[in-house]
Amino acid sequence: MSAIVVWAELKEDRFKKPTLEALTAAHRWADSLGLPVWAVVIAHEPPKDALSILGEYGADKVIKVVAPEFANFSPNAYARALAVLMREKNASYAVLPQSYDGRAIAPMLSIWADAALISGATTVPEKTEEGFMARRIAYSNKGIEWVRSAHLPLIITVKASAFVPEKKPKTATEEEFSFKPKPEDLRLKVIGIEKIATDKIPLTEAEVVVSAGRGLKGPENWGIIEELAQVLGAATACSKPVADVGWRPHHEHVGQTGIQISPNLYVAIGISGAIQHLAGVASSKNIVVINNDPEAPFFKVADYGIVGDAFEVVPRLTEAIRRYKEQHAH
Ligand SMILES: Cc1cc2nc3c(=O)[nH]c(=O)nc-3n(C[C@H](O)[C@H](O)[C@H](O)COP(=O)(O)OP(=O)(O)OC[C@H]3O[C@@H](n4cnc5c(N)ncnc54)[C@H](O)[C@@H]3O)c2cc1C
Repeated sequence: MSAIVVWAELKEDRFKKPTLEALTAAHRWADSLGLPVWAVVIAHEPPKDALSILGEYGADKVIKVVAPEFANFSPNAYARALAVLMREKNASYAVLPQSYDGRAIAPMLSIWADAALISGATTVPEKTEEGFMARRIAYSNKGIEWVRSAHLPLIITVKASAFVPEKKPKTATEEEFSFKPKPEDLRLKVIGIEKIATDKIPLTEAEVVVSAGRGLKGPENWGIIEELAQVLGAATACSKPVADVGWRPHHEHVGQTGIQISPNLYVAIGISGAIQHLAGVASSKNIVVINNDPEAPFFKVADYGIVGDAFEVVPRLTEAIRRYKEQHAH
């Protein structure tokens, strides 16, 4: 019962958006339970600003689990460290980002900590007479599931973009927790990373995404998409057939069989809005659709729609945004 434990994930020595979202969910949950938030950093060498950053986003305490073995990510070792810590500290609640690594750790942690796991939560679990209730996205973003657990410990992973990172400045205290991974914990570890995406803004972390489909006619026409993305500070995405024929790289493909995203703004250009595409983007906060067919299904889920030829509309939109930004630069 002692606290809500948050796994503060380090990526390239930084705490990125998924960690700040998890901390936000944790401090809201902690407020409702009257508990403190403990951010747990598992690392070979934790960053020097860990205390100040995690404290700024609501951590009452930062617990560092330091060992040379943590130089490389190893899901078993990380999950075991968290499970041992939860048991020794008598912590009944944990929050993890639903990042790639968070998804690898959470199921193992739930087994080792003998905990219930709600994965991809979009709300903070609410205490009811029959246990904790939370919402999660189901059926590839096409449905919502309400789940309940009366079991403790309870772990949640937080769906990307379900919580906007919210500062809650605290003067966090610091503690070291001693844990040495056993050889069997290190049965799998990441030994190298080769980046294949060259985008400055990773798609899964982008607040704004400009996406295009077969309506663009060919890869040579993507210049107008990239220019719009550039003025908006957006990442670029595409529909499946566009990636299948090689107009765009596969890591840009969004939808049921691609990446699932929930940015604040999703701009869909020349994309029909097939259900399999919507499965990956329909939970975006604002959707703008540009399509020359007024009957295109995408308009049914759009917050704003422009019926028109992308080759005319997009350059004019880019220019208008550029002008607006120049006028409001100060
Ligand atoms: C099992 C399965 C899984 C799938 N998974 C995915 C997935 O993950 N992601 C995905 O995207 N698809 C997926 N698909 C494919 C999906 O069903 C659609 O075929 C696909 O999304 C269509 O892509 P599109 O909208 O780019 O092309 P189209 O359907 O060809 O639509 C092109 C759109 O561009 C518009 N247009 C044409 N010219 C212009 C112009 N000059 N200006 C403006 N608009 C214009 C047209 O009106 C049309 O609406 C899947 C299909 C299956 C069966």
